[in-house]
Amino acid sequence: NNEEAAARAAAANADSGAPTIFDRIIAKEIPSSIVYEDEKVLAFRDIDPQAPVHVLVIPKFRDGLTQLGKAEARHGEILGQLLYAAKIVAEKEGILDGFRVVINNGSDACQSVYHLHLHVLGGRQMKWPPG
Ligand code: 5GP
Repeated sequence: NNEEAAARAAAANADSGAPTIFDRIIAKEIPSSIVYEDEKVLAFRDIDPQAPVHVLVIPKFRDGLTQLGKAEARHGEILGQLLYAAKIVAEKEGILDGFRVVINNGSDACQSVYHLHLHVLGGRQMKWPPG
């Protein structure tokens, strides 16, 4: 029934701490279209783009950051690096005049991959409020 389906969907969308597909993207076992990379951060195009520019910015070392809600004081530096990388991506993609950075946190926000990631979206008129 509907309740069971909802429970299954929530469980499938839970933060188990298990490795994710992003580990395989970082290891380059799965190809991705890389926009920016440095020692700590990888930025690559989303496989299901929601805007002309849709890039994911992720830490190469997850270090417990399955979601922003798990952040601790020690993560301050990488969190800043991710945000700065989002700006570099926007600059490289030519959308500095208007872009959006989104973090979906947890199942209520439809987070589907439990490896912290920033969505950098742009290249079209964005709307507010988001869905
Ligand atoms: P979330 O819903 O967790 O905020 O975002 C996860 C994002 O990862 C989604 O936008 C989805 O399209 C993207 N994604 C999932 N698997 C892959 C993949 O294998 N390659 C790439 N490039 N993006 C992926």
